Amino acid sequence: MPTKILDDYAKKMRDAENESHEGKRKAESLWPIMRISHARSRYIYELYYKREAISKELYDWLLKQEYADPALIAKWKKTGYEKLCCIRCIQSRDMNYQGSTCICRVPKAQVRTGTVVECVHCGCRGCSSDS
Ligand SMILES: [Zn+2]
Ligand SMILES: [Zn+2]
Repeated sequence: MPTKILDDYAKKMRDAENESHEGKRKAESLWPIMRISHARSRYIYELYYKREAISKELYDWLLKQEYADPALIAKWKKTGYEKLCCIRCIQSRDMNYQGSTCICRVPKAQVRTGTVVECVHCGCRGCSSDS
């Protein structure tokens, strides 16, 4: 297990947390943190499920240490959610815009030209499996 990579993620996370939030919208200041935690979950997910490079024990340990988000990983295993950016995108209580789907979940072909695709939760620019 390349722990160096986990250390790098931890460092990036600290930097993002310490960054000044001045001039940013409230949600926006969380985007860098959301992106890093997404990338780290993705990394661990791929190590275990795609590359089979780590043992089940290690994988479970990593989840327990909160290096990866088990809720998000559970979604990635489902068809249509392979690229889901963040769990909040599919939590209905936050869905008071664009009907019931976060704009970033809408397939590119269905997004009207000129529409800004940007997840309010994490800044995702589109994570539909069809695009
Ligand atoms: Zn998204
Ligand atoms: Zn999102």
